[in-house]
Amino acid sequence: MSPQKSTSWTLTARWIFVVEGQPLENGTITINGDRIVAVEPHGRRSADVDLGNAAVIPGLVNAHTHLDLSGLRGAGIPAGGFTDWLRAVIRHRRNLSTDQLTWDIQAGLNESVACGTTLIGDISAQGLSWPALVAAPVRAIVFFELLGLPKTRAHQAWAGACEWLRSHPATGTCRPGLSPHAPYSIRSSLFRAAANYCQHRRVAMATHLAETQAELELLERRCGPFVDFLSELGVWDPEGLANGASEILRLNADTQNALFIHGNYLDAACPFLKGATLVYCPRTHAAFGHQAHPFRTFLQAGVRVALGTDSLASNPDLNVFEEVRFLHDRFPDLPGSLLLRMATLYGAEALGWEKETGSLVPGKSADLVVLPLTDLGEADPHRLLLSSAGPVNRVLWRGEWYSRDAKVNDQRMERG
Ligand SMILES: [Zn+2]
Repeated sequence: MSPQKSTSWTLTARWIFVVEGQPLENGTITINGDRIVAVEPHGRRSADVDLGNAAVIPGLVNAHTHLDLSGLRGAGIPAGGFTDWLRAVIRHRRNLSTDQLTWDIQAGLNESVACGTTLIGDISAQGLSWPALVAAPVRAIVFFELLGLPKTRAHQAWAGACEWLRSHPATGTCRPGLSPHAPYSIRSSLFRAAANYCQHRRVAMATHLAETQAELELLERRCGPFVDFLSELGVWDPEGLANGASEILRLNADTQNALFIHGNYLDAACPFLKGATLVYCPRTHAAFGHQAHPFRTFLQAGVRVALGTDSLASNPDLNVFEEVRFLHDRFPDLPGSLLLRMATLYGAEALGWEKETGSLVPGKSADLVVLPLTDLGEADPHRLLLSSAGPVNRVLWRGEWYSRDAKVNDQRMERG
């Protein structure tokens, strides 16, 4: 039974991970309506709901995905590498009916919600995921995808984006954003237009950047596998390309919420990254077999690094916590508190929703995820959390439970 709105109620669990502060063992969270009103150590307040041997963490933030590619689950990465993968994605999109596209978006969204994602940054062709995300129990930025390297295509893309932005004002839970797709697919003047718009209207911007060595080769020397790829598509226009990744970063130096996706081959010392966010998609990065990702150097340089799953065209699922587990397995020395922050608060800050969500503190929306813990007597709560392999038990969004798993004892979920 969901607690009644506008009545305070309290929950507890073995560990409460507030993210902005130390985890609280058997701490309590008090919720009134859709807000967290208090977070307290054990003993200060009795709990209405005891979640038992579980961790409570903030709602997860997926800073980068493409829900409209959910139909490509399991397609794998072609042996020809990145440009062949792009060819397969384009083929898939061309053969997709509107009904199938709508279904795919909803399927990806349902999976995200079930995995505990309560804030999504979704790049969407023609902004078509907007209705699904407005109606879903999540917050979102829908990034309208811009594509256009030749002059006429760039003009058409910009006109389409402006019309879409005019007709999609922000709602209480969903905001429009712009995504100039990538330096190999966007005219530099279109990048400038998008960056200006995002700076002046305080709109979030997301762009793929330095994803492959071939992209840098194209920008710096106008050669490499992208030349054939763009020529096949009839959009090869070397005059329109930017002159390197640093030009793209410079254009967005004043954008309040600029997200640079991947950055697999980006120089962490670049000064224009300071106010921006780098979005790292660990399992997608690994699937393409790129060189080691420089995310630790970025973090050391003071750059915010948030996590994304990318799409099902390059990742087996849309579960942000699986990205955290993946990183913990490969980098066991990384503090668990940092990994959790990359999957929650840093993503919320990147997307401009940090006043509402991303951590469990009074005043924020009551968005949280319940994960089962093992019986291990592990003293470090973050290690205990990361050693737990169980799926999300349930998710609270704006103070209401919206998923229920049979593994949770329903008797204990009733208010005391
Ligand atoms: Zn992407």
